[in-house]
Order: sequence, then C-alpha cells, then structure tokens
Amino acid sequence: MIQIFGVIGDPIGHSLSPEMHNAAYHALGLDCIYLPFHVRAERLRDAIEGAGALGIRGLNVTVPHKVAVMELVEPDLLARKIGAVNTIDFATLKGYNTDVAGITGSLESAGVDLRGKRVLLLGAGGAARAAAFASIEAGCKLVIANRTRSKGEKLADELGRGVNAIGLEDDEIGPAIAESDVLINATSVGMYPEIDKIPIRPELLHPDLVVFDLIYNPLETMLLSEAKKKGCKTISGVKMLVYQGAASFRIWLGIDPPVDVMETVVRERLIL
Ligand code: NAP
Repeated sequence: MIQIFGVIGDPIGHSLSPEMHNAAYHALGLDCIYLPFHVRAERLRDAIEGAGALGIRGLNVTVPHKVAVMELVEPDLLARKIGAVNTIDFATLKGYNTDVAGITGSLESAGVDLRGKRVLLLGAGGAARAAAFASIEAGCKLVIANRTRSKGEKLADELGRGVNAIGLEDDEIGPAIAESDVLINATSVGMYPEIDKIPIRPELLHPDLVVFDLIYNPLETMLLSEAKKKGCKTISGVKMLVYQGAASFRIWLGIDPPVDVMETVVRERLIL
C-alpha cells in the first residue's frame, strides 16, 4: 500500500520538500508520496490527530509550528534540547529535530570535520540553535554573535561550556573572525529578496575560514560570493536543506536516500 508523507506549515506553497522527497522515492522505486499541507495554527492539533488517524506515515513540520507541535508528540532528547520538532514519525508518535543532522551532514559532505574547531556563529534564532548544538556536540569552541546581544547571551548561558556571546560590531566581530576556523551564518541577512545584504564586512574574512551560510535562497549569497573571492571554502544552505530532509527520510524508512538526486532537484528549482 502506498505510504503517505508530507510537510505542514503556514504558508507552505514555497516548500521544496515535496519535490525533493518525491524525487528520492522515484529514484528508489518506492511506493511513497510526499504532499504539502497548509495548516493554520488553530488547526494544528486537529491536523496531527487527523494525520495519525488517516495513517499518514510521517510529517515534516515547518514555520510556524515547530515549537507548538512539541506538545502533541513525544520529542526525543535532541528535539527537547533544541526546543523544536521538524519531523514526526507516526509509527511511534515521536518527534525529532533533523536540523543538527542537516548541518553536520553538510559539513561532512564538504570534507569539513567540525570536531574541536573554533566556530563563530552569526545569529541566535531557530537555525542558530541547531548550529550551536551541532558545534557543541562536536566539541567546538563556540562564539555566538547576534544583533540583539541579550538573545545571544541567553543562548550562550543555556549552552554553558564556555560559550561566549558578542555583538555584530566590527570591534568585536573582527577579532572573533580572525580567531575562527568556521563561520556559520544563521541570520536571515542576505536572504531573497535582500540578496545584496551581507551580515559582516567582507574585509574581515580570511582564506583559512570555512564559510557556511544556512540561507539557501539565493544558492550563492553575497557572503558566500565574497568568501570565495577571499579564497575561503564555502558551503551553501542548500546542503542543510537536503541533509535535514535526508535525515527525516532515514527516520521514516530506515534506508539511505539518494542525497545527490535530492540536491539536484532542489538546485534546479532554486535556479528557476
Ligand atoms: P529566526 O529564528 O527569525 O532568526 C533570525 C536571526 O537573524 C536572528 O538571530 C536575528 O537577530 C538575525 N537577523 C535578522 N535580521 C537581521 C539584520 N538585519 N541584521 C543582523 N541580524 C539579523 O530565523 P531562523 O529560522 O533561525 O532562520 C535564519 C536563516 O536560516 C534564514 O535565512 C533561513 O532561511 C535559514 N534557514 C535555513 C535552513 C536550511 O535548511 N538551509 C533551515 C532553517 C533556516 P535578532 O535576534 O537580533 O533579531
């Protein structure tokens, strides 16, 4: 019998997940389908209960439901630490967060071993939390730089383990970049349509830096293009999108997805 998967969010029309997962099912000859479902906040409980009752096998959860859905499923330890669920397995009603796997998978695929590295993380929102936990799990020395300093400090306090929080001003961010091996941009600065924006001054970049921008639209942000000019290794957020999807796929189906097929489909959609 066909197995049904999907993604819930509000809005949902922009989601690239249906094409990404359906391409993977097609490539592996699986009798599965993945659909987008527009769910408003006030119908979230109905949607989760209804999905379970209908025998839907798994759902991804996107903005704005990632936090609210935690009450409706059983989040695993990592999802509880991050404070958000993006994957539900209806076989167990367990909730997972695959954003950390998305970040570590992206770095591994680029040949970057995060273990013990000095990481400078720009941002302190939802995506930054996943990047922070990925860095802590890998034993990194982490500095969080956020526009609203108090929010960065709150995240640093929560993480403990000597994590520092700074602002985005040149006098603080300059020395922090000079002392870092990996720069992760988890702010929305540079995201479509504001593609001519950059979160830091490009002059501060150095060639030994790996620059990972979590933004996937555009595929190459201003930050990545400036980092390339400086000779940095660069990683696009499209990788995170694909590897978090791949991790959901593994949770649901217990097999490895064709990551290259998924990435090709997403890149094609983003170029259009
Ligand atoms: P969020 O929770 O709203 O956090 C936004 C972050 O950006 C905050 O730290 C915010 O700082 C900062 N920011 C916003 N405007 C800024 C500006 N003008 N100058 C400096 N900092 C600014 O959003 P999110 O969910 O974490 O998403 C952040 C980015 O990650 C988005 O571009 C999103 O597309 C991307 N993302 C990618 C993936 C993927 O799969 N590749 C997954 C999730 C998210 P304040 O605290 O000062 O407001």
